[in-house]
Amino acid sequence: MLKRKCQQCELPIEGRSDKKFCSDQCRSNYNNGQRSQSERLILEVNKVLRKNRTLLKQSNPSGMSIVRKEFLTRSGFNFNYFTSRYKTRDGNEYWFCYDIGWMYLEDEKIRIIEYQSYMKKL
Ligand SMILES: [Zn+2]
Repeated sequence: MLKRKCQQCELPIEGRSDKKFCSDQCRSNYNNGQRSQSERLILEVNKVLRKNRTLLKQSNPSGMSIVRKEFLTRSGFNFNYFTSRYKTRDGNEYWFCYDIGWMYLEDEKIRIIEYQSYMKKL
């Protein structure tokens, strides 16, 4: 019969056949490791969102700007990460990173705006 190993320390396990860990200590260490992995993911996503917001802010000193999409991409902007969307009455859409958003324009250009209080869906 194959000896089962502890999922945390890989020492052989004694006892019941459904045991996954050799000790309570190993089970708790394993679970802490799992949790910090998902917390790392959250931190990573937050980092991307914060960077996106900073880049939008820096590219938009006047409150409303139009920049080339390529300029943002080259600065490290990631268009897949945003916190909310807002649809205008004429059917256009703003993508927000917190309080600053962008809209896709023609010719690979991007309009950047600041959040306005009438954009209630945020
Ligand atoms: Zn163990």
